[in-house]
Amino acid sequence: MPELSHNGEEGVFTLSLDFELFWGLRDILTKEACRETLFGARRAIPEILALFSGYGIHATWATVGFLFCSGRGELLKNLPELLPSYEESSLSPYPAIANTGNSEEEDPLHYAPSLVRQIAATPGQEMATHTFSHYYCLEKGQTAEAFRADLEAACRAAAREGIELRSLVFPRNQFNEEYLSVCREQGIIAYRGNQQNWMYRASTTSGEPKLKRLARLADAYLNLSGFNGHLATVLGETLPFNIPASRLLRSVSSRLKLLEPLRLQRIKKEMSHAAENGLVYHLWWHPHNFGNDISGNIAFLRQILRHYRQLRERYGMRSMSMAEIAEQAQQKLSR
Ligand SMILES: [Zn+2]
Repeated sequence: MPELSHNGEEGVFTLSLDFELFWGLRDILTKEACRETLFGARRAIPEILALFSGYGIHATWATVGFLFCSGRGELLKNLPELLPSYEESSLSPYPAIANTGNSEEEDPLHYAPSLVRQIAATPGQEMATHTFSHYYCLEKGQTAEAFRADLEAACRAAAREGIELRSLVFPRNQFNEEYLSVCREQGIIAYRGNQQNWMYRASTTSGEPKLKRLARLADAYLNLSGFNGHLATVLGETLPFNIPASRLLRSVSSRLKLLEPLRLQRIKKEMSHAAENGLVYHLWWHPHNFGNDISGNIAFLRQILRHYRQLRERYGMRSMSMAEIAEQAQQKLSR
């Protein structure tokens, strides 16, 4: 029998991945600059899935809806009824669609239905949404109506694959409280909120101060923001429930190689703290964070999952997807 945690609840280990390929980077980097990384992301996904299967991990894959499409033709046939009218027009991906390829083979950085199917077919994996178009909910010019149309298009694309979307991750973590009712209408029961510490608060892309980024980097190695686990019972009272992020799983760094054991320790200690106290610990990253050094990142992730297995044996910690956590919270509330 595992030991009981301090509040009698089983700790929960949850992982979410923002799967977006070039749609998440197109306004920041050129395709040439991230081509290798994105091809690496494609190769990393089957390895991550194999690792998850080996350790009984239930993860949430927040996927950009465009990636569900077989190519330009299918995407153009299935556009939202209303497109976002960002003041900063370069944020809209829609003009770029014309220059994409017409199949996944021709354009694997913009379309990925084969990977979507592979993820969805792997036991325990939740196919979720990162909106249809990598939609920015805090940017000027866009509206709740355009967000609704975007989410409807995402739901339709998933439904064509027989998938019902239940969890959402806001692109660039641009959490907009006013849009939660739109999420609820579309059947979303869980979203990933931001870490509570000041250094993790949401801001628009252009309004992100350097100090915040620096503080987050340091916090990956040193305990600056405290132990980032969250009480399973404090997720909100209405759907969708907030399953807040605890930490971004950064890429292994050759530049800061000597500090890597410190970074691993930081994560393991937070996981232990969550297991001992019956909290939810939520790690997130993008598959492309593994793209430049797949074996190094897989090895780092394996050490985290080994630690999870120990915590499962000792404290009964469980791996759950975001939707599973929300379902469980819903059942508790209705009791
Ligand atoms: Zn994203």
